[in-house]
Formats: sequence, C-alpha cells, structure tokens
Amino acid sequence: MSPGADRLAEVRQRIADAAQGAGRSLADVTLVAVSKTHGTDRVREMLEAGQRVFGENRVQEAQEKFPALKSDYPDLELHLIGPLQTNKARDAVALFDVIQSVDRDRIAAALAKEMTHLGRRPACYVQVNTGEEPQKAGVAPADVDAFVATCRDTYKLPVVGLMCIPPVDEEPALHFALLAKIAARNGLSCISMGMSADYETAVRLGATHVRVGSALFGARP
Ligand SMILES: *Cc1c(COP(=O)(O)O)cnc(C)c1O
Repeated sequence: MSPGADRLAEVRQRIADAAQGAGRSLADVTLVAVSKTHGTDRVREMLEAGQRVFGENRVQEAQEKFPALKSDYPDLELHLIGPLQTNKARDAVALFDVIQSVDRDRIAAALAKEMTHLGRRPACYVQVNTGEEPQKAGVAPADVDAFVATCRDTYKLPVVGLMCIPPVDEEPALHFALLAKIAARNGLSCISMGMSADYETAVRLGATHVRVGSALFGARP
C-alpha cells in the first residue's frame, strides 16, 4: 500500500471504531479528505485508494486542482470548507458539490443568484461560530435558527446541514454537542465537525461529516 493508503485505512478504522462505540452506523459518517495545499498527485493517491470525498478551503486552489480530477473520477464529491467571498460565488457554485461555509446574508443571496444562473444547486451548510470568536467566520449560535430560515424561505437555498470549527484552546466536545443540538432543532441532517485532532470525539457526538487533513496527507507544506 502507498503511505497515503495506509493513513486512509487507519483513519477509516478509527472512524469505524468511534461509530461502533457510540452505537452509530458507519454508513452515517462521511470522511471529507481535506487536500488544501497538497498537489494533485497526492489527491490521486487517495482516489486510487478509494477515497471520493474531498474538501478544499480556497475556490481558486480548487479550480486549479479539481476539474481534471473530476473528469477522471466522475463520482468525486468536492466540498468548500473555507470562507467564501461574493465575487467567487459563481465559481464556487460551478465547481463544488457542497458549500459548507454559508454564513451571511450577502453570501446566501449571491449563491441563490448563481444557482439560478448556472442551473446547479450544491448542497449548503451554515457555518456556526460556536465559540463566538470575533475573528472567526460563522453565524453566532443565537442567530442560527433565523439565518437558516432566511436561507430556506427567502433564498430557497438547499440547506442540509451545519458546520463548525471550535476554538483551538477549548474542549471541542462542548462545541460539537452544541452544533448537534442546533442542527436537530432546525431539522438539519448533516453535521460537519471534527478535524485531525478530534474527529473521533466528533463521531461520538453525532458528526455525519468529519474534515480530516493532516492525519491523511501529513503536515501541510
Ligand atoms: C484545514 C481544515 C481542516 C483540516 O484540518 P486538519 O487539522 O489538518 O485535519 C478542517 N476543516 C477546515 C475548515 C479546515 O480549514
């Protein structure tokens, strides 16, 4: 096996163990391989090992890497997990299958307009700033219900889930539990939480999507 395939097998096993320990079905947890900063050769190694779902946090970097990969692997699913600017909304709708970082009215409006224009409707997640950190993207927990309603009712966006990135210096479990609770009360089935350091905790607390970069690809250059 390639080193990438080895790491992929290990991460998958840990996800399976965490799911089993929590009485959850492995089929309900999707591994999003975060390939930001890594070249297409590294992504291909993961594709050859069977991985199909990838996450990138910059639209332009994804545009440089993924069109060719998507044509070689038509079942590849690409998630945008980083902040989105309105002037990149068209490119994002054209390329990504899932947009996990919807976090303000202007972006929701821009995505709705481009979805109509392009006739393509990537699934949307609302990003929640569970730690209410001023420098971090995301909707404050108290504002999520209203923002989800606006996305659904005003903009007719296909909102299916929530995403969070907990503060680095806090116990992630509290943030994961909060995100799962907000998702449940809004009838949202997808919960994107957990990264290399804490994805097993996230699976135990209900993550349907874990976003794992360095544990799969090694340290970023
Ligand atoms: C980079 C990134 C990840 C992956 O981080 P690792 O710690 O390398 O697993 C997950 N989510 C987001 C939003 C990221 O930007």
